[in-house]
Amino acid sequence: MPIINRIASYHKDMTAWRHDIHSHPETAFEEERTANIVADKLGKFGIEVHRGLARTGVVGVLRAGTSSRAIGLRADMDALHVQETNTFNHKSSVPGKMHACGHDGHTVMLLGAAMYLAETSNFDGTVYFIFQPAEENEGGGRVMVEEGLFEKFPCEGVYGMHNIPGIPTGRFAVRPGPMMAAYDIFEIVVKGVGAHGAMPHLGIDPVVVSSHIVTALQSIVARNVDPMDTAVVSTTQIHAGDTWNVIPQECVLKGTVRTFKKPVQDMIEKQIEKIARNVAAGFGAEVTKWRYERRYPATVNSERETEFAAEAATALVGQDNVNRSPTPAMGSEDFAWMLQKKPGCYIWIGNGDGEGSCMVHNPGYDFNDEILPLGASYWVTLVEQRLARQAAMPKAAE
Ligand SMILES: [Zn+2]
Ligand SMILES: [Zn+2]
Repeated sequence: MPIINRIASYHKDMTAWRHDIHSHPETAFEEERTANIVADKLGKFGIEVHRGLARTGVVGVLRAGTSSRAIGLRADMDALHVQETNTFNHKSSVPGKMHACGHDGHTVMLLGAAMYLAETSNFDGTVYFIFQPAEENEGGGRVMVEEGLFEKFPCEGVYGMHNIPGIPTGRFAVRPGPMMAAYDIFEIVVKGVGAHGAMPHLGIDPVVVSSHIVTALQSIVARNVDPMDTAVVSTTQIHAGDTWNVIPQECVLKGTVRTFKKPVQDMIEKQIEKIARNVAAGFGAEVTKWRYERRYPATVNSERETEFAAEAATALVGQDNVNRSPTPAMGSEDFAWMLQKKPGCYIWIGNGDGEGSCMVHNPGYDFNDEILPLGASYWVTLVEQRLARQAAMPKAAE
C-alpha cells in the first residue's frame, strides 16, 4: 500500500494501540480511559495537550516554523451500545459495548499522524489534533464547538475521516457538498380508549390508529418529497400494551428522519405532525405528545477544502483510487457541527471489500488494521501540503 515509509514502521505499534482501545470500548462522554491514552501519547510525542472540552475531549497542539496559519484534524473516540460477536483476542471486554464504528481506528490513525508530524516537523504553521467524544447520538462534536473549540483553537479549515466497509482498502471517496444526511428524531403518543380485547367497539384502539399512522407516514417520501430530492422517514419503535386481552390506552411511536436540504426537512417535520394528528382524529383518538428534534445537520463539504483533501489522497494512492463523486450516505455525522463553523472536508477511507466489508454498527464489524498507516499518511500529506514550508528566499545580493 502506498504509505509514507516512516509511518509504515509504526504499523505494529498502531495495531497494538488499536487493539487495546478496541478491547476497552467507552460510550458517549465516558471516554476517560481512551482520552487518557490519547493525552498520554500526545504528551510523549512532545505535543501540547488540552483537556476537558466536552468533558472527555482532547486537543493536541503542534507548531512548526513561523506561519500563523492553522488547520484542525478531527477523530472520534466513542464506542456503541452493541454486544460484540467477534471472538478474536482484542474483542470487547465490556459487555454490551463495542467499537462497532471503527472510532478506535480513527483515533489511532490520528495518533500515528501526530507522532510522525511531531518527529519530522516538516510543515509551517499549527496543527490541532482534535479527539472528540460522543460522536454517536449525543453530539460530542457539537458540545466541543459550543464550548469554544474554534475560539480556543482557531483554524482556517477542519478535516474529518471515516472508514467505510465495502470500499476496497487503498481507496478514498470524497465529494464537495453533502456527504451525509441530517439526522432528526420524532416521537408520537397516540391516546385512545382502553377496552377489553374482546369488546373493541367499546374502546378506541390506539394500536390500530398507530398502524394507520405508520403506513400513512410512508406517503411523505413517496408523495410529498420532490422525486429529485432524497429523504428517509423510518418509524423504528412501536410500544403499546401489556397483555393478550386488553386494548391499551396509549401507543408510542418513535422514529428517525434523514434529509439533505432544509426545505425538505421543514416540510417533513410539518407533514409527520399533520398526518399523525389527523389520522388519529379520524379514528376518534388523539395525539397527546408530539416531539420532533433536529439532532445533527447534514455533513456538507466545502469546495476548496474538498479539493485539498482529494489532492492529499491522490498524492498517496493515485487518482484512480480516489472516487470524486461517491453517492452521499443517509447516515449522519456530528462532524457536521464543526463544518457549520469552519470550511472543511469529511473523507471516506475504504475499510475493505473482503474481510473488512462487514458494515459498521454490526456486532461482527472490526476496523481493518491494514489501513492504519494509510489513514495516518493521508493526515500527514494533508498537513504537509496545506501548511507547506515556503522555499527559502534567495539571499539578496550584498
Ligand atoms: Zn457510527
Ligand atoms: Zn462512526
